[in-house]
Amino acid sequence: MQDDSLVSLDKQHLIHPVTNYHAHEHRGATILKSGQGAYLTDSTGKELLDAFSGLWCVNVGYGQESIVQAAEAQMRTLPYATGYFHFSSEPAIKLAAKLVEITPTSLQHVYFTLGGSDAVDSTIRFIVNYFNSLGKPQKKHFISIERGYHGSSSQSAGLTALPVFHRHFDLPLPNQHRIPCPYAYRNAQDTSPEAIIAESVMALKNKVEELGVDHVAAFFCEPVIGSGGVIVPPKGWLKAMQDCCNALGVLFVVDEVITGFGRTGPMFASLAEDVTPDLMTMAKGLTAGYAPMGAVMMSDAIYQGIADGCGPDAPVGHGYTYSAHPVSATIALEVIRLYEEGGLLANGQAVTCHFEAGLTAMLDHPLVGDARSRGLLGALELVANKNKKTPFDPALKLSERVSTAAYKHGLIFRAFADNILGFAPALCYTKEDFNLLFERLKRTLDDVLEQPEVLSYI
Ligand code: PMP
Repeated sequence: MQDDSLVSLDKQHLIHPVTNYHAHEHRGATILKSGQGAYLTDSTGKELLDAFSGLWCVNVGYGQESIVQAAEAQMRTLPYATGYFHFSSEPAIKLAAKLVEITPTSLQHVYFTLGGSDAVDSTIRFIVNYFNSLGKPQKKHFISIERGYHGSSSQSAGLTALPVFHRHFDLPLPNQHRIPCPYAYRNAQDTSPEAIIAESVMALKNKVEELGVDHVAAFFCEPVIGSGGVIVPPKGWLKAMQDCCNALGVLFVVDEVITGFGRTGPMFASLAEDVTPDLMTMAKGLTAGYAPMGAVMMSDAIYQGIADGCGPDAPVGHGYTYSAHPVSATIALEVIRLYEEGGLLANGQAVTCHFEAGLTAMLDHPLVGDARSRGLLGALELVANKNKKTPFDPALKLSERVSTAAYKHGLIFRAFADNILGFAPALCYTKEDFNLLFERLKRTLDDVLEQPEVLSYI
């Protein structure tokens, strides 16, 4: 039984992220109670297979006891240490060094945040400071990709190029610009990797020229566009974007908040693509959702530029109370140990074939028009007509129908508003978990297809 008093209190007082408030008052919350491995249990006792790792973050699965023990020990020893006044803590130092070891060689310095949005916001602040320090104050324009997601804080939400994050928020800012998304299924005339890469490179060059090379500070991108619908650019795309940035003198920032920590196979997508970003953001898989934490990493050149620019006495005026929190840092160290020594990175890579095969097999379903993935990050796109790729009428509220049916069948994934279903299973998944995922998914889509309103649309 769901606890009605909790549902009622939730409606009265708890504001939910990226939610229609009135719809929530009407619908009420689904309260989650516990988790183990890839499975969650809600407050009615219903067991659910989580195919989205919470919010693409619980990469190690739920109930990892060694993380709990490490966090408990750190809380007993030292629950908090500030980084102000030259203080530091052992876990924070070890984590910074570890991140330098496992990320591209270009990244030498780490600033810790509480999550991804403030990692992107901090990155923007560091870049602004850097160009002011260099005596290039006109370099203040930022470019991102349509459908890209970089957070929902005041500045990061402007780089996020999804209308719902701008509407009524007076965004994007005048110095935030976008280029088209390398969306093979929808945008491309020629879907060959070469054509898609060439189109993005040309769009970036044109945008930089339009704004003036001396005015563009940085280009931000995700290796796989996540919240914009799991759009997977071809291999070689990321490298081509870096080469283009380097040639134009524009900083290249890779946002690995979703793609980091084994999500696409390697520890970071940038490693597989052989790119050396000027700055990188990360969060989610860093602590696998066991505590809030994110990070910005930067090259030595940027660090030195900022350090020199502030002069001998003044501090760099950027800091959070909870930056480099020792409990979060301890958790991150244990999570990274589980990826490496605990074998989770290797397991994720080994089971990816079952994920890919399952997604591809779903193309036989009448509702599925596209299946795409990289590593354990994937999507299905639902269409009313496969040949014409006709999207469903938004009035049909297909994503809600799919989520409701999936829940009934004991499956959680993300149904985006535009008919895209996103999947991000944990790295601890087994072959049997994947069998169950696709069995439940097929039943879900069959249920939706049988609904008269949906049938009549096809
Ligand atoms: N960047 C990317 C690529 C993300 O996917 C997200 C979150 N989905 C963020 C930034 C923002 O992270 P957070 O929600 O932790 O603030």
